[in-house]
Amino acid sequence: MKRRGFIKKSSLLGVSVGIPSSFALEINEPKVKLKKFPLVIATWDVKNATKKAWDLLESGSSSLDAVEQGCMIEEADVNNQSVGKGGLPDRDGNVTLDACIMNSNGDCGSVVYLKNITHAISVARKIMEETPHVMLAGVGAEKFAYSLGYKKEKLLTDKSRLDWLDWKKKSEYKPIINIENHDTIGMLAIDKNGDISGGCTTSGLAYKMSGRVGDSPIIGSGLFIDNEVGGAVATGLGEEVVKTVGSFLVVELMRNGYSPQKACEEAIRRIVSKKNSNYKDFQVGYIAINKIGESGSYSIHDGFSMTKYENNLNKTFKSNFYSD
Ligand code: ASP
Repeated sequence: MKRRGFIKKSSLLGVSVGIPSSFALEINEPKVKLKKFPLVIATWDVKNATKKAWDLLESGSSSLDAVEQGCMIEEADVNNQSVGKGGLPDRDGNVTLDACIMNSNGDCGSVVYLKNITHAISVARKIMEETPHVMLAGVGAEKFAYSLGYKKEKLLTDKSRLDWLDWKKKSEYKPIINIENHDTIGMLAIDKNGDISGGCTTSGLAYKMSGRVGDSPIIGSGLFIDNEVGGAVATGLGEEVVKTVGSFLVVELMRNGYSPQKACEEAIRRIVSKKNSNYKDFQVGYIAINKIGESGSYSIHDGFSMTKYENNLNKTFKSNFYSD
C-alpha cells in the first residue's frame, strides 16, 4: 500500500497501528507530524526511575526491560514509603508488596501479598516468563522468589516502623484513607521498535487490613497494555480503581478514538459519577500513552503528577484534576 493510501486508511479507522519503525505518524492532528520514540512516563515525581528507563530505551533495550528496571529504582529507595523496601506496613506491622508487569505481546505476570523481597516487579516478570501462571500470592510467591535465588530481606525500615507505631496511637488501629498514603509507581514505556510495556509496584495502602490487595497487581485495574492501542496505569485508592476496571477502561476508550488525556478524564468521571460516590475522601490518578506516543494524566484531586522522559528531557508535570 502506498504511504498516502495507508494514512487515509488509518485515519478512517482512527488508529495508527503497524508502524514498526522508530517513527510514527500522528494522524489525529490536522498536520501530519513525526514522533520519535523512545518515551517513558510514570506516576508521580520519579525522575530517577524514568531516567533509568530512558537510558535503557536509548541504548536499544526493550520497553519491558525499561519498565522493570525503572520500577526497581523506586522499590530500592527506602525514602519512598509506598513502594518496596521502606514501604509502610499493614496495620499489623507487616510490609506486603503487590506488583504486575505486562509486555507488548499481551503477556502478564503479577504478585500479591509478597513479603521479604524488595523487587516485586522482577518477581512478577519471572512469574510471567517462567511459570504457566499469571499471578502468585503470599507464601507461594515468596517460595518461588527464593527458588530463583532471591534472598530474604527486612523491608520494614526504622522510619516506617516508627511511623506505624505513631499511626497506631492516633488511629486506634483503624485503616485510614488518605491521599498522602499513595505513591505507587506505575510506568509505561515505548521502545525504539514502537512496542509498549508497563509495570506497577506498590506496598499498597498504608496501614491496610492484613491480607488486603489493591488494584496495582490486578491486570486491567492497576495496569493494562494493548500494543495496538496504548497503555494505562493507575494510582490511588485501589478499591475504586478495581470497581471500574480502570486501566482497561482507559485503553478501551483510546481504542475507540479517545486521546490518552480524554480517556483518563473519562475513567475518573466514571468513578466520581457513581451513585453515592464519596470521591471527596479519596484520590485516584491515571496516566496513559497511545501507540503514537501521545500521553495524558488526570486525577480526582489536586496533587497528582506525571513524569515524562522524551526527547532527552526528563520532566514532572502537575496533572489536571476533577475537584478539590
Ligand atoms: N493503588 C495502590 C493500592 O491501592 C496504592 C497507591 O496507589 O499508592 O494499593
